[in-house]
Amino acid sequence: MASIFTKIINGEIPSYKVAETDDFYAFLDINPNAKGHTLCIPKKEVNRLFDLDKETYDGLMEFSRTVALGLREAIPCKRVGMSVIGLEVPHVHVHLIPLNHMGEMTFQEKVSLSPEEFEATAAAIRAQLK
Ligand code: 5GP
Repeated sequence: MASIFTKIINGEIPSYKVAETDDFYAFLDINPNAKGHTLCIPKKEVNRLFDLDKETYDGLMEFSRTVALGLREAIPCKRVGMSVIGLEVPHVHVHLIPLNHMGEMTFQEKVSLSPEEFEATAAAIRAQLK
C-alpha cells in the first residue's frame, strides 16, 4: 500500500508544498516542532534512509541543502536543524527545523499554526527558492 507521503506526492492528500523536482518533494510538517518545519522526501518510496541507492541518497541531501538555505532566509532562526527518524512514516524523510533552542529538536515541543499561517510560511520559503 502506498505510504501517506506517496499519496501527498500524488496529490491524493493535500500538503503545503515548499519545493519539487523530478525526484524529490518538500512540504511543511503538519505537526511542526517550530514554524517552518519542513520534510524533504524522495519520490521513490523507500522505508529506511540508508537503504536508498547512493544516487537518490546524494540527491536527497543536495535537495535538502537547497531547501534549508531558503528556509533560513524565510524563517528567522539561529540555525536549521536536520534529523532523520522515520518511526512514524515508513517513507524516507529529512526533517528540517528552524531552531532557536534545543527543545525544538526533541519532537516533544510542538507549535500550532492556522491553515493561513501554514500557507504563508510555505509561500515565504518558496519565494526564497526562486
Ligand atoms: P517520523 O516518521 O520521522 O517519526 O515523523 C513523521 C513526521 O511526519 C511527523 O513529524 C508528522 O507530523 C509528519 N506527518 C505525518 N503525517 C503527515 C501528513 O499527512 N502530512 C504532513 N504534512 N506531515 C505528516
